[in-house]
Amino acid sequence: HAKQVGKDSFQLFTPQIGEALRSRQALEHDMREGLQAGQFSLAYQPQYDARRRVLGFEALARWRHPERGWVPPTEFIPVAESSGLIVDLGLVMLGVLRRDLDTWKELGVKCPAVAVNLSWEQCRKLQHRERFLQQLKALHLGPDEVEFELTESAGFEDIDKPDSFVFTLQGLGYGLAIDDFGTGYSSLAYLRRIRCRKLKIDRLFVHGLSSNADSRTLVESMVRVAHAMRMLVVAEGVELPADEAALIAMGCDLMQGFGFCRPVPPDEVPALLAPG
Ligand code: C2E
Ligand code: MG
Ligand code: MG
Ligand code: MG
Repeated sequence: HAKQVGKDSFQLFTPQIGEALRSRQALEHDMREGLQAGQFSLAYQPQYDARRRVLGFEALARWRHPERGWVPPTEFIPVAESSGLIVDLGLVMLGVLRRDLDTWKELGVKCPAVAVNLSWEQCRKLQHRERFLQQLKALHLGPDEVEFELTESAGFEDIDKPDSFVFTLQGLGYGLAIDDFGTGYSSLAYLRRIRCRKLKIDRLFVHGLSSNADSRTLVESMVRVAHAMRMLVVAEGVELPADEAALIAMGCDLMQGFGFCRPVPPDEVPALLAPG
């Protein structure tokens, strides 16, 4: 950026930018500490079928900062990704998931596979991929207990490589979902390359689709494409009853959103799985 700004580059160091940089560094520092101190937990958002049965969960990272309180993932995930802390976060979250799964098991609750978000940054380096696989193995997290969500990004270009982490995970039997479908790069191109179990349609297309002809057409096409590829379709961000009805009519397999249930702490999960 400095080059483009040229002789005005002193503008890069305005007090505001200095402050933003400091707060970013502070967040990174606090996060590093918080990961050690057990400040991170998972919230679980159920996924429902057309009959409103809970058939899955998505695990979402939560951070309770000792002074700031809850820090939203939209704030700390990008910092974690750019600082490399996402690698540690990913490993810590697997440990948290193991603990939560064990607690539910002790209560006699049988939980369907939980979908864990995986950033491309966690898969880029061989040593990180190996640590992740080691952690899965050490914690005995098998394909019946965990699956993964990947956000399409420019990084998916790497999918052509035979050692691609996506194929490694699939080879071990883990289910994969493409997250936020429709908002990234070359969606259809990589649908052809990787055969995922699930396609998650981003809430950008889902919200208000029953009263928006364009959204409706797009979601209808995505459902048709996914089914033609033998994938299950999950609609994200379902908030309105009219959208739920429209999604069911289109044959959408699973729905997730505030209209059904917000992400809940682990102690509220057993009640969601109780029959009746
Ligand atoms: P995502 O994977 O697309 O997760 C869905 C996000 O949408 C969650 O936000 C969820 O709370 C929110 N959401 C669910 N239903 C609704 C709805 O009906 N309306 C609206 N407006 N929002 C809804 P959250 O928990 O803030 O997470 C944001 C993003 O942070 C996630 O997006 C995911 O990309 C990332 N993230 C969260 N946890 C992890 C993690 O453990 N690892 C990695 N790598 N990324 C994570
Ligand atoms: Mg996700
Ligand atoms: Mg998503
Ligand atoms: Mg998202």
